Amino acid sequence: NYILAFETSCDETSVAILKNGTELLSNIIASQINSHKRFGGVVPEIASRHHVEQITVCIEAALEEAKISASELTAVAVTQGPGLNGALLVGIMAAKTFAWANHLPLIPVNHMAGHLMAARLVDEIEYPAMALLVSGGHSELVYVEREGNYKKVGETRDDAAGEAYDKVGRVMGLTYPSGKVIDELAHKGQDTYHFPRAMMTTNEVEFSFSGLKSAFINLVHSENQKGNDVVKDDLENLAASFQAAVIDVLVAKTKLAIEKYPVKTLIIGGGVSANQGLRDRLNDEIIEQKLIVPPLRLCGDNAGMIAAAAYVEWEKGSRGSLALNAKPSLVFEDLA
Ligand code: ATP
Ligand code: MG
Ligand code: FE
Repeated sequence: NYILAFETSCDETSVAILKNGTELLSNIIASQINSHKRFGGVVPEIASRHHVEQITVCIEAALEEAKISASELTAVAVTQGPGLNGALLVGIMAAKTFAWANHLPLIPVNHMAGHLMAARLVDEIEYPAMALLVSGGHSELVYVEREGNYKKVGETRDDAAGEAYDKVGRVMGLTYPSGKVIDELAHKGQDTYHFPRAMMTTNEVEFSFSGLKSAFINLVHSENQKGNDVVKDDLENLAASFQAAVIDVLVAKTKLAIEKYPVKTLIIGGGVSANQGLRDRLNDEIIEQKLIVPPLRLCGDNAGMIAAAAYVEWEKGSRGSLALNAKPSLVFEDLA
């Protein structure tokens, strides 16, 4: 079984080839981040144009690196959503064209199922499993009773964790995306500011990060008014304090979720799962479950993870038609 997968939901153009569901033969990723940095976020129109420019180069590189020809492929997979409509459409058009020209079946994939299933490229998932998915647009806990059966059991009420990192990073004068830099700064500082931890007293599997973001901004402003340039003089402690608040909540709610829905495996996925502070805490505190922490290259957006989720869909028998359209707000419940 050889699956060729496409991922173009946001600002990475990526094409991968996966053998037999677990062996990545290639995973080409063309990042556009330098084109978006100066705008402080991803500009949809620019993203779509870059995908158009990069997609054929990525297909050729993926086939070449895997040493596979189109005639050997089993299926073509593509991210259907969630993501930016115009960006998704570029991958979908490329996947449909490739599938049609080579008489291959098409498999639509949920981007978040991809972040989750990156884990199967790392280790065997023992079911039932729980996944903490934290990325630029999502923060959610997903229960996977058996392979390919996803149920979201909790999510953020407002901002995603990655979004909070990026917004706070802007106040800190860091370039977008700022999660990685804040993580590095945090390791050199201490939690001296004690920002609020939202939802900690409720028994609900729910996150909220917009209050933390506001508390951070308010603190910087009020210190500035007192003549203290905390961003300039105390950046490491600011970063450490912000990160401690985020991680405390992520870890507490993950533990609550696995208390409510007992599992054998805990998976983390999404761009924020690259966070070293979060990884360290979970390594220390998740004792009874198998913990699968993907390597950094599989945390951010990549087509390898889409191929991994597609393999599961393939086994389930789900196929897309050539009338397949993008679904920018696709949710797990839409999966058959
Ligand atoms: P989604 O998957 O929800 O559609 P996305 O694909 O844009 O959103 P990803 O590419 O999975 O998101 O993740 C990007 C996010 O990860 C950014 O917000 C970035 O700041 C954050 N991030 C990356 N590395 C780290 C880190 N070490 N610590 C915290 N956040 C990080
Ligand atoms: Mg990205
Ligand atoms: Fe993503």
